[in-house]
Amino acid sequence: MQETNTEKNLVDLLGKKINRQLLYYLDTCARCSICKDACHQYVVTGDIKYIPAYRAELLRRIYKRYFTPAGKTIPFLYEAKEIDEKLLDELSRVTYACTGCRRCMVYCPFAIDTTWILSTAKALLNSAGKTPQILVELTNAAIEKGKSIDLFKEIILDTLKEMEKELKEKVNDANATIPVDKKEVEILYVALAGKHTILPAGIIFHQAKANWTLSLFEASNYAYFLGDPQRAKIIADRIIEEAKRLRVKEIVVSECGHAYRVFKHFYQLWSGEKLPFWVRSIVEVIYEYLKEGRIKISKEQINEPITYHDPCQLGRNGGIFEEPRYILRSLSSDFREINPNRERNWCCGGGGGLVANPDFEELRIKTGEIKAKQITESGAKTVVSACENCRLQISSLNEKYNLGIKVTSVSELVAENLS
Ligand code: SF4
Ligand code: SF4
Repeated sequence: MQETNTEKNLVDLLGKKINRQLLYYLDTCARCSICKDACHQYVVTGDIKYIPAYRAELLRRIYKRYFTPAGKTIPFLYEAKEIDEKLLDELSRVTYACTGCRRCMVYCPFAIDTTWILSTAKALLNSAGKTPQILVELTNAAIEKGKSIDLFKEIILDTLKEMEKELKEKVNDANATIPVDKKEVEILYVALAGKHTILPAGIIFHQAKANWTLSLFEASNYAYFLGDPQRAKIIADRIIEEAKRLRVKEIVVSECGHAYRVFKHFYQLWSGEKLPFWVRSIVEVIYEYLKEGRIKISKEQINEPITYHDPCQLGRNGGIFEEPRYILRSLSSDFREINPNRERNWCCGGGGGLVANPDFEELRIKTGEIKAKQITESGAKTVVSACENCRLQISSLNEKYNLGIKVTSVSELVAENLS
C-alpha cells in the first residue's frame, strides 16, 4: 500500500515510541485472557473490545505490520494491520474508554501494563486527531486560563475572601486565613475547583497550626487523560513554578488521584528534573497530623457504618492504602472493608477522564455496577474516597442504583469531626 502522509507520520511516531518496555509487553502476551476477568468493563458488558489484551492487540497489529519482517510481507498471516480510519476509530474508542485503573496488570501473569501500551496508542491518536473533543477543550481551557492568571486572580481572591469568612466562623478564630502567595511556608496546597476541597483543608491546617499557602491553580490535569505529556507538563509547570517561587518545602495535593500521580510520579519523568520539594497527598498529611496529635477527632460522632473505596490512582497506582484506613478507623468504630480491597479493589468506573466525557456516560454507569454491589454488600452508609473522580462516579451510582449512602472525602469527614 502507498503510505499516506498521516500514515507515515504515525508510523514514524510509533517507531520513536518503541522501547524495551513496550516490546516486552507487545511480545510477551500469551493471550491467556486472564486479564479479561480483572477489567470491570469487560466483566459487566461481556464485549470483547473491552478485554485489556484486545485493546493492546490493536496497537500490536499496527506494530507487526510496520516493524516486523513477517508482518510487512504477509500481513494477513500474522494478524498485522495497516493504519486506516476504521482502525484508528476503534483504537480511540477502546483506549479512551480505559479508566487507567491497572487492575488488569495485577492479575496478568506477566504483569503486562495495558495502560502503558495504551499511552503509546494515545500518542498516535493525539497525532491523528482521534481524541475525545471534551478532553481537548478542557485541556485548552486550562492552558489558556494559566496564561492569564493575573486576569483571574482578582476573582479568585474575592471568592477566597468569602470562604475565609466561613473558615473564621467554623474554627471560631477571627485571625484564621486562607493564605495565597505566602513565601517560605511548609506547604503549597493544590486544591480542585470548589469550596469542598479548600475549606475542609483550611480547617484542618488551622487546627494543626500548619504553615501553608493555597495555590492559585487547580490540581486537575485533563491533558494527562488525553495522553499528551507535553501539554500535561505545561499545566503542571505553573504549580511547580509557583512552588519554586514561594520556596515551599512540599506540594500537598488535594484528594485527586490523577493529580497526585502527575506531581508525584510523572512530572519528574516528563521534565527530567529532580524537584526541590516533597509531594504528598493531603491524606498522608492528615494521617501524620493525627499520629502526631496535631489534630484531634471525635470518634463518637459517626454512628453508622463507613467504608473506604480505594481510588485506583492513589491506591493500586500510588501505594496509599493504610493512611486513609487509619484515619477512618479513628473516626468510627464501625469501619468496614469492601471486598476485594486495596490493590485488588474494583475500579469505580469513573477514572481516565470518563466522568467528564458524556460519550462514555452510559458505559460508565453500567460498568459501575460492580462497585455499587460491593458497597451494598458492605452495609456501609457512608462511603469515603480520596479522589474527586471516584466521588463523582460513586455519587452517580448512588443515584442510579438507589444506594442510599452519603459520599464524601477524607478531609471533609475529618474537618466535620474535629474535636
Ligand atoms: S493476562 Fe496478560 S498475558 Fe494474559 S492475555 Fe492478558 S495481557 Fe496477555
Ligand atoms: S486499566 Fe482497568 S479499565 Fe483499563 S483495560 Fe485494564 S482493567 Fe480495564
